[in-house]
Amino acid sequence: MTCEMIENYELKKHTTFKIGGCAKRAFFPTTTEEMTQLLCELKNPVILGSCSNVLISSQGIDNDVILTSKMNNFTLEKNILTAQCGVKVPMLSKEAEHNALSGMEFMIGFPGTVGGAVYMNASAHSQAVSDTCVLCHIFDLDEKKLLELNKEEMQFGYRSSIMQKKNYVLIDAKFELRPAPKEEISAIMMRNLEFRKGKQPSLAIPNAGSIFKNPPNDSAGRLLEKAGVKGLKYGDAQVWMGHANFIVNTENANSKDVSHLMNKMYNMVKDKYTIELRPEVKFVGIMSEEEVELWDTMLNKK
Ligand SMILES: Cc1cc2nc3c(=O)[nH]c(=O)nc-3n(C[C@H](O)[C@H](O)[C@H](O)COP(=O)(O)OP(=O)(O)OC[C@H]3O[C@@H](n4cnc5c(N)ncnc54)[C@H](O)[C@@H]3O)c2cc1C
Repeated sequence: MTCEMIENYELKKHTTFKIGGCAKRAFFPTTTEEMTQLLCELKNPVILGSCSNVLISSQGIDNDVILTSKMNNFTLEKNILTAQCGVKVPMLSKEAEHNALSGMEFMIGFPGTVGGAVYMNASAHSQAVSDTCVLCHIFDLDEKKLLELNKEEMQFGYRSSIMQKKNYVLIDAKFELRPAPKEEISAIMMRNLEFRKGKQPSLAIPNAGSIFKNPPNDSAGRLLEKAGVKGLKYGDAQVWMGHANFIVNTENANSKDVSHLMNKMYNMVKDKYTIELRPEVKFVGIMSEEEVELWDTMLNKK
């Protein structure tokens, strides 16, 4: 295999949380051919994009890891933007703006890749991946074959897609955009960026975006704020003072600190409102017994 591979790769530096141990082997494919060859050969690889929605275990990851950051090509034909899984979404937002195409204005404000955004059906400011994503090229890890799935087959929902139910890897995705005046698109993007200032920690303060998903017809941030979690600390993990649904790594937090703090937040909302929040952030890697316990409760697995 010709693909670049690094042994004992420290994942911490790759994540927006600045938390995580080592991957025994990290692969960096640059083409679809390299990626599919890896997916055919490796046993249960973990796929990671910008690591902006994950809590990576401080004890590391046992499986091989594929980091998609070098799968970063995209093409535009008329109003169809096709992007490989490792393209950073703010870059797509700017490309669409440059070509007076609407549908990606929301992507300007967060640091994900196309793979992570499709997997999560990322959304913000009344726009979602599912509004424009019309076709995905997927590798099925169980069947070891390539699939082409249309929008319906992707089964997009709130922070979900079929990829979370199956052993699927996104190779690339096509987005159908709508022509619109460039000034309007630029104004929306500016407004979206302004909205985040003060409401979300900047990436200078390590964080992983929203910690819990919104429950039906409510806001996780509102419930957490009313439950009084702002400022709570566990080790070096702290609930951000500016918004109760964000945890920041104040210095050298580890995955246990964050898991304990999340559990406290979960319990405080459950005690006050009998509502069980579900994590938006995904735990990846080796779990200690403590972490298994904490996450099983939050994921309703026991
Ligand atoms: C400051 C901040 C603000 C944010 N704001 C928002 C927001 O407004 N809206 C929103 O929806 N999200 C937001 N997020 C969360 C996050 O940026 C998005 O969910 C993003 O799309 C995740 O992409 P990623 O590449 O970082 O995914 P990762 O964190 O690397 O991975 C997330 C999940 O996707 C899987 N995955 C990644 N790539 C692939 C692939 N190619 N094939 C299969 N599975 C894959 C991973 O295995 C993992 O389970 C924010 C995060 C931060 C830090």
